[in-house]
Amino acid sequence: MMKKNLMDMTIKELELFFINIGEQKFRAKQVFGWIAKGACSFDEMTDLSKGLRLKLAENADIQKLVILRMQPSQKDGTRKYLMGLPDGNSIECVFMKYKFGNTLCISSQAGCRMGCSFCASAIGGLSRNLTAGEMVDQIISTERDTGEKISNIVVMGTGEPFDNYENLLKFIEIVHAKEGLNIGLRNITVSTCGLIPKMKEFAMDVPQVNLAVSLHAPNDKIRGVIMPISKRYPMDDLLSACRQCIERTGRRITFEYALIKGTNDSERNAEELVSRLRGMNCHVNLIPLNRVEETGLAGTEHTVAERFKLILDKKGIQTTIRRELGSDIDAACGQLRLKNGRD
Ligand code: SAH
Repeated sequence: MMKKNLMDMTIKELELFFINIGEQKFRAKQVFGWIAKGACSFDEMTDLSKGLRLKLAENADIQKLVILRMQPSQKDGTRKYLMGLPDGNSIECVFMKYKFGNTLCISSQAGCRMGCSFCASAIGGLSRNLTAGEMVDQIISTERDTGEKISNIVVMGTGEPFDNYENLLKFIEIVHAKEGLNIGLRNITVSTCGLIPKMKEFAMDVPQVNLAVSLHAPNDKIRGVIMPISKRYPMDDLLSACRQCIERTGRRITFEYALIKGTNDSERNAEELVSRLRGMNCHVNLIPLNRVEETGLAGTEHTVAERFKLILDKKGIQTTIRRELGSDIDAACGQLRLKNGRD
């Protein structure tokens, strides 16, 4: 019999597993709690009998990620991790300290097939989806390494989470369970490049989870050049889907807008953006593009970013310029993974 990877299981699935091996189902919550605390082997689960631990080891394992590299920022407590998967792939996650709590930015896929022109994750294409357990263990392994509790999750690392939808939902169920990591749904944010059908499902399935949408342009002409997905889902449709999601969830949407020098950062671009977003319950997060050597694109200067923000502010659209955490450690999407491949 193939050993079952318990890292990948919800409490319900664990209960079924225990019943199948002839054990009582309350064991599920016990083991689930141990895994969330970072247990790597059944021997660590000291409140289980020796016999049960042995039986578990025969039938199951706990597949952990391996920390391959950790880059600490010298400036702000940010730590960037490169973690290895059992099949030799690697992924990244970034630990950030904010006043409201520790946040982990996790990856949802090894690579990505969305092909955005400015993004390092797109360069090698998609390698594969991560399992729910591989997403969960980014949190567990980081908590163990830092010795700190993580209270907020952003799914903004490598990959398009809505291109791995089933595993994303399972991941959310596992990290939200109070017997384990106990992370509030409102403390989770999922970012998408705009896969409309899944956005709508998501608003139905987990309305309390925050949604961020990578817009990066005020119109299809510009968006089409930098984000191939806009050819499948034009901006009018995307924005009307966003309005539907807001209506359904009653929650604000965040639009991410990476400012790329000479591409999408003019005053006219800002004004057009205002006209598209007016009246929407939204927040715009401006991100001066992180330089990725391979793309040849440059970020907007700070003064130009400030001017862009002012135009949105004046028209009542809440706007922030993202504080750059970890700028000294290439903490932008896919950069560490890419570098490792080149070393
Ligand atoms: N696929 C999802 C989530 C991953 S990327 C999405 O597209 O939203 C998280 C955010 O970082 C996205 O808004 C993405 O467009 C942005 N991003 C990618 N490369 C970047 C770069 N070089 N500089 C700044 N932001 C970048």
